[in-house]
Amino acid sequence: MQALTNRKQQVERKPMTVWEKLYLPSIFKGMGITFSHLFKKKPTINYPEEQRPFSSVFRGLHILNRDEEGREKCTACGLCALSCPAEAITMEAAERQPGEEHLYKEEKYAAKYEINMLRCIFCGLCEEACPKDAIYLSQTFAPANYGRKGFIYNKEDLLIPDPNTDPEGYEKAKGDIGKNIK
Ligand code: SF4
Ligand code: SF4
Repeated sequence: MQALTNRKQQVERKPMTVWEKLYLPSIFKGMGITFSHLFKKKPTINYPEEQRPFSSVFRGLHILNRDEEGREKCTACGLCALSCPAEAITMEAAERQPGEEHLYKEEKYAAKYEINMLRCIFCGLCEEACPKDAIYLSQTFAPANYGRKGFIYNKEDLLIPDPNTDPEGYEKAKGDIGKNIK
């Protein structure tokens, strides 16, 4: 049959010499290649002790934000859920009661807020849609889990720590992206 390319090569099957049968040249050649890699820069890192910095446009796990007084910013308007192409967000709204002004910034708040991380495609449209800067995608990712239920994140999982009671946790959760969100 006519070959499509001229890359075909005839393989010579001549018997090996005694020197070749010792395999020593091939062993030393292979060890030389291995040894040369000892002095090259490692392309791998010792994860999880070492971690690579995220890209500035990385979109990770969602954070429900609080204001500087520690009050929840989400007003349960539902715009994030409406804008979500994966229908991953569900919530239930509730009215703020007198005496709860220190807990919720607006008159309405999300009594229940859930994101299904198995549906989420981390597009960031919920963050874009939010008029209150109440949700943003951080520079962490959802950890692995053994069950599907573990990927349904509720309000307690998503809410950023209170800056008044846990300032360290608040700054850590906020990360570099959150520093730009007031
Ligand atoms: S990042 Fe995209 S897919 Fe995920 S919850 Fe937000 S809008 Fe939905
Ligand atoms: S996170 Fe933002 S868009 Fe979503 S319900 Fe709360 S205030 Fe509305």
